[in-house]
Amino acid sequence: MKGLEWKITFLGTSAALPNANRGLSGQLLETHGGSILIDCGEGTQLQLFKIGAKVNRIDFILISHLHGDHFYGIPGLLSSFHLLGRVKPLTIIGPEGIKSILDFLIKLSHEKLSYELHVLELKHEDKKVIFSNNELEIESFPLLHSIPTYGYQVKSVKTELNLDKGKIMALNIGIDWYKKLKAGADYVDEHGLIVKNEMLTLPPIQGNSYAYCSDTKYFLKLSDYVKGVSMLYHESTFTDEHEMEAQNRSHSTASQAAKIAHNAKAKQLVLGHFSSRYKDLSVFKTEAQRYFREVILAEDLMEIKFH
Ligand SMILES: [Zn+2]
Repeated sequence: MKGLEWKITFLGTSAALPNANRGLSGQLLETHGGSILIDCGEGTQLQLFKIGAKVNRIDFILISHLHGDHFYGIPGLLSSFHLLGRVKPLTIIGPEGIKSILDFLIKLSHEKLSYELHVLELKHEDKKVIFSNNELEIESFPLLHSIPTYGYQVKSVKTELNLDKGKIMALNIGIDWYKKLKAGADYVDEHGLIVKNEMLTLPPIQGNSYAYCSDTKYFLKLSDYVKGVSMLYHESTFTDEHEMEAQNRSHSTASQAAKIAHNAKAKQLVLGHFSSRYKDLSVFKTEAQRYFREVILAEDLMEIKFH
């Protein structure tokens, strides 16, 4: 990936039941620090191969919850990784129970996978950092669904300072200093004169971030969990007409997703997880745009680059 431009590809955008045009939940987030698969409904691996995804770049699979349409694709994908001779370790993160399901399946079908598989179970009730390195940070937070469900936010780690080009040019500072200055060092010229780092640098560029919220009923605290996110994916299973049904079945409407995006001051909102009952999806966009302008309706195999 170029710089901090990330790419999200929607592999399946239907709720509960697939149809001829829309498969079950799955998304591939490609970042400067590696790729992350988010949810893995049945059919996800076929979509990955269709788009020619570099599957060996996938370090993490994040699972929102243990309803079948969000994770029944995992066993097949793990098996394909094994058959492809993967050696790179893989980490799967999801709600409590996922480890015993996977251990059982792997025990039945393989003596040993060709790669190390780490499974991390989530059991917390507030936002939490579940992974970080010097490039990425992954947070999980609880959603409000009929079984334990987690949303995820992936953020770039902002560490490098920006050079103040005008001042660098004015002092005629050589290129060999740039890396040190970006890391926070003071500048020392050939006469031993020190120029403080803060005189020559600007704060780091705003980091990139992606948040995934599926499945959930509407609750306002969710907008705090994803405050300032660059790209917010939020389920919108129903339209306003079926708001009561959304509430009863622990799902959201397009309007509710847009209210979360508005309150979170997100830059962009993508809607997905549409109920198969709707033939014309334009109403999702119309209803959402009453609360938030930048709305995209996800389609299978659609990709969006953002930064
Ligand atoms: Zn569900």
